[in-house]
Amino acid sequence: MTTVGILGGGQLARMLVLAGAPLGLRFKLLDPAADACAGQLAPLAVGAWDAAEALRSFVEGVDIATFDFENVPAPAAQWLAATLPVFPPPQALAVSQDRLSEKNRFRELGIPVAPFAAVDSLDGLRAAVAAIGLPAILKTRRLGYDGKGQFRLRTLEDVDAAWAALGPQAPAVGLILEGFVAFQRELSVVAARGKGGEFRAWPLTRNWHVDGVLSASLAPAPVNPSTREKALAYAKALAESLDYVGVFALELFECDDELLANEMAPRVHNSGHWTIEGSQVSQFENHLRAGLGLPLGSTAMRGHACMLNWLGTMPDRAAALAVPGLRWHDYGKQPRPGRKVGHATVCADSPAELAARLEQLGSALDRQAQVAPVVACLLQGSR
Ligand code: AMP
Repeated sequence: MTTVGILGGGQLARMLVLAGAPLGLRFKLLDPAADACAGQLAPLAVGAWDAAEALRSFVEGVDIATFDFENVPAPAAQWLAATLPVFPPPQALAVSQDRLSEKNRFRELGIPVAPFAAVDSLDGLRAAVAAIGLPAILKTRRLGYDGKGQFRLRTLEDVDAAWAALGPQAPAVGLILEGFVAFQRELSVVAARGKGGEFRAWPLTRNWHVDGVLSASLAPAPVNPSTREKALAYAKALAESLDYVGVFALELFECDDELLANEMAPRVHNSGHWTIEGSQVSQFENHLRAGLGLPLGSTAMRGHACMLNWLGTMPDRAAALAVPGLRWHDYGKQPRPGRKVGHATVCADSPAELAARLEQLGSALDRQAQVAPVVACLLQGSR
């Protein structure tokens, strides 16, 4: 019996546990929150990720460890890796924890990115704005997620406000200014790399964000084959450069036939949740297979799939379950404004059928605005 330890006990850990049970795996979790939602399904140790005592008791009985979030403190990740097998490799975490090193890595690999510059003072911000131009986004280099730790600059008058908002964080987490990309679409590649270098990617996903937080994902994204090939080549090059093992996501902006990399997540990813029902083998199962050195499963689609995130509170389950092809995921979390509390995936055999089901769901839950851009994309693509 293999026990997989997961640092982090949120919804990603929860879905890893659900995917690992049929493989005969057991799990042990470490999270600072006593009510971490994966703790409803597997033993949860409550403690800080960088507390030596908590880590030492966590590794007892654990055969192999992984993460459900990327901001694991580097010393903790290194200590773990010296103690037991860990996937993905800590160097992948290190690169993705810092937007500057991540962007530099993309550049080294020939993966296009928006112009960027590190910023550590108000004068530095002024110089970066002069070099990059406006509009632009000032972001924290570390510990930002879901659009948090970001300030959009439209005019030169915004410079002081941007510095007032994020400048105080500069010494602790660093700042980066990025040129604003007037993208047509946001896409992501979710892919798995095995221990022997085997690489499998799911079909490209199109994503819609609201206030920097993922709202909906559609797969397969209606893109031309050259876009898909380019995206997969970028993802493969990135995974190879990191000697990656496990599942990861590469977020891309599509802009006039060019793909610009935004960021990578060295873990299972929200834009891959649809793979549970929409593909042969889910991102969660393939992440575990990769780490355990098992053969990777097929990433082929089963029709067309759309995932909708539920933020704040769960919508009406009974109304949603009346929609054909819909699967429900309640993470068992307490409601809180903006919090990811669950999602639904709707599958169908054709884009038109998926659009009809999404419209039905939008009306049933009074979420017409959330489904509307996906429906428009599906109907446009099938014309
Ligand atoms: P991030 O935390 O970097 O993934 O940013 C969250 C969201 O903000 C992205 O998914 C985009 O919708 C938007 N965004 C981030 N960076 C840029 C950029 N350089 N240009 C335009 N939009 C961006």
